[in-house]
Amino acid sequence: MKKNDEVICNVCGISSKDEKDAVFIQAIKGGESVDICTSCMPTVIHGSGSVVRSNESIAAELGK
Ligand SMILES: [Zn+2]
Repeated sequence: MKKNDEVICNVCGISSKDEKDAVFIQAIKGGESVDICTSCMPTVIHGSGSVVRSNESIAAELGK
């Protein structure tokens, strides 16, 4: 998900601010734009999209 000028992985929660070299791939789940870092892509491609969390879920976790 995107938050201001920061990108956060919808699978592992890694932030573009913490990992300067991280590459994020933009995707869509359930009509919602999500972002997935390359470390998590194999899991999504070879596994299931169920590991991709909603922006609402990520935002709630960040709000802790
Ligand atoms: Zn990730």
